[in-house]
Amino acid sequence: MENKRPVIGITCSTKDIGGLETAYLHYSYTTSVMNAGGVPVILPMADKEIAREWAALCDGILLSGGEDMDPQQIGAEPHPNLGKVIPERDKTEMDLIEFAKEQKIPIFAICRGIQVLNGALGGTLYQDVYDEMEKVIKHYQDGARDAATHSISIEEGSLLAEIIGSNETSVNSFHHGAVQEVAPGMKVTAKAPDGIIEAIESEDFNKNWILAVQWHPEDMTEVSEEMHRLFTYFVKAAEERAGKKETVSSS
Ligand code: MN
Repeated sequence: MENKRPVIGITCSTKDIGGLETAYLHYSYTTSVMNAGGVPVILPMADKEIAREWAALCDGILLSGGEDMDPQQIGAEPHPNLGKVIPERDKTEMDLIEFAKEQKIPIFAICRGIQVLNGALGGTLYQDVYDEMEKVIKHYQDGARDAATHSISIEEGSLLAEIIGSNETSVNSFHHGAVQEVAPGMKVTAKAPDGIIEAIESEDFNKNWILAVQWHPEDMTEVSEEMHRLFTYFVKAAEERAGKKETVSSS
């Protein structure tokens, strides 16, 4: 029996729960993927050979939010305000990004995900925007997870603008790091009013379908049709890629 719906691999974190190290992911990711027509599979930390197997299994890769990326992964030193890092998780995600890019598997990256993605592809990162940038607005909200608290302006002609259906919107915000220099092959498609980069995407979607946002759309899909559409576009891209894979294997 063949899969009818695209399989979306979602990376997760690790957390000590009752003294046991536990694979950890908010349900909002899996729910948002299911509501968009995808079949979520949670990907725990693993070595490179396992990441290679996942690339063969998954039609799309979703890089979820979480802890700060270890700056040493991209040759940078830790800022004093750097939060908790999990280098093993960074490595698993960097391996997945490498295989996904190689095999043209669509990637959707969220919050921590945009930073790991940009770092993995050769970009640089702010580890603490409050200290490293001037006149920064509040990017770590105290409001509810699904509440939009700051605006973003969106690049005209980008895929993000097509999905959102506008050149501006408002998003939730739970970060103190951000993309600094965008990675080669990627372009900036949204910024907060203070200039902080809030979204990047592929320069060429035919080469690689990659979309990354600094906010948490998975927590807004129940209240925002725009945020739900981010997931439906991603799942559609995964579905199209899965269709191509079948054509290749049957010929
Ligand atoms: Mn923000």
